[in-house]
Amino acid sequence: MCGIVGITSSADVSFSLYYALYALQHRGQESAGIATYNGAGLCKHKGNGLVSEVFDEQVLQSLVGKTGIGHVRYPTTGENRPENIQPFLFTFQDHVIAVAHNGNLVNYRELRQEFEDRGQIFWSTSDTEIISKIITESIRKGGTMEDAVQKCMACLKGSYSVIMLYDGDLYAFRDPHGIRPLCFGRTESGYLVASESVAVDALNGKFERDVNPGEMVHITGDTIRFKQIAVASSKGHCVFEYIYFARADSRIDGSLVYDVRRKIGAQMCVESPIKADAVCTVPDSGTAYAVGYSERSGIPFMECLIKNRYMGRTFIMPTQEKRERAVRIKLNPIPDHLQSRSIILVDDSIVRGTTSRRIIQTMRDAGAREIHMRIGSPIIKAPCYLGVDMPTRTELIGSDKDVEQVRRSITATSLHYLSMEALVDAIGLPKHDLCLGCLTGCYPVQIGDEQCDDRNVTMVDRDYQTSLFERET
Ligand code: 5GP
Ligand code: MG
Repeated sequence: MCGIVGITSSADVSFSLYYALYALQHRGQESAGIATYNGAGLCKHKGNGLVSEVFDEQVLQSLVGKTGIGHVRYPTTGENRPENIQPFLFTFQDHVIAVAHNGNLVNYRELRQEFEDRGQIFWSTSDTEIISKIITESIRKGGTMEDAVQKCMACLKGSYSVIMLYDGDLYAFRDPHGIRPLCFGRTESGYLVASESVAVDALNGKFERDVNPGEMVHITGDTIRFKQIAVASSKGHCVFEYIYFARADSRIDGSLVYDVRRKIGAQMCVESPIKADAVCTVPDSGTAYAVGYSERSGIPFMECLIKNRYMGRTFIMPTQEKRERAVRIKLNPIPDHLQSRSIILVDDSIVRGTTSRRIIQTMRDAGAREIHMRIGSPIIKAPCYLGVDMPTRTELIGSDKDVEQVRRSITATSLHYLSMEALVDAIGLPKHDLCLGCLTGCYPVQIGDEQCDDRNVTMVDRDYQTSLFERET
């Protein structure tokens, strides 16, 4: 997972990029980077850590330019090495290019092999370098950036939302299935493209719309241009963005994430009603769900676990041992709210089961009598190869267990997972336009020996209508 942003403006953009990245911090806490175009070349600054740790005022002032891109990284492909921190920067002929990518390319190894067989060298272990290689090769052969993006869409498999600086121009494109989100908006002084609409909000901008799957956006000066490059027979928007990953205040592919979660909460009450003293959230990811459950059931919403807000997300800890330690300091129970009570505990998902088990134990130790766990997603059965960190089946508690076995393992009094129908209904998009891979084990693109429901991608005719509109002044 990662967060990306690109901004054009009539003034320097580095502070705006910083604020936008701040709004996208939940999408990746391992590293952050910004590249700007100063009229002659690129300025850059990257580092390990949170946005607030990587940048300070002096650094931001040194990043001169009216166009720029930024990235926050959560590693899915490639280890934690300085050379894997994005954006990636290239200089060739008279051009400079910076690339920021969110997603995961499933044919990375094959593509890399092809390039290496032709004598090319790679300096990172990140799949994003492949995108850069395809782009620069295509342009070196005389193509335009549009040709290069077309080439990317023809040969990349997997998820990719990409934002690029090409000299002073900003380009963005989204894979034909639209697996990872990407939207654009305008500010008082220009435009931006970003992973989530909260980045637009952070700049006091106006959210315009999502970038369509298979679409390219080109912003140069005051002009923005859209071009459909490829079309898939059906889309594959990641449901886990709605379930967990995106911020609740983001709007993705037509739906406000908070409302999707709240609706799911209400539906869980319909699917699995139970009498209890209070509805409690596992903060923060479970909160909108718990609000929905409480509203529908009439059972009061009450917080029984308080999150230490100075901690990152537990899963960000790259090793299991660090993860376990992090869980212990992350959530503190309020015994006065739990003593002898029957609690409906609402969370968005169970992945490994370690957090859930530990939380339930903590709540029992604090006096809870019954803990009825309600999970706002169906059981997670299969790994994600398309950008979410849930790598192997052995690590997933739901991959080989039924609901009753999971219940016993996490020691809940009762356990209910949301039905698939309710999830699809709450998101409000047709089922065939979603990627449900982690829930069904069937993916929108072919990945090794995994099941795949063929969603063909066709390249759109080069003369496809493009739309142009001038910025309002
Ligand atoms: P588990 O019981 O599976 O160990 O943890 C479940 C919790 O992990 C839930 O509260 C859910 O919000 C959170 N979670 C689910 N997916 C992810 C992820 O990809 N990253 C992080 N940091 N947390 C996750
Ligand atoms: Mg959570």
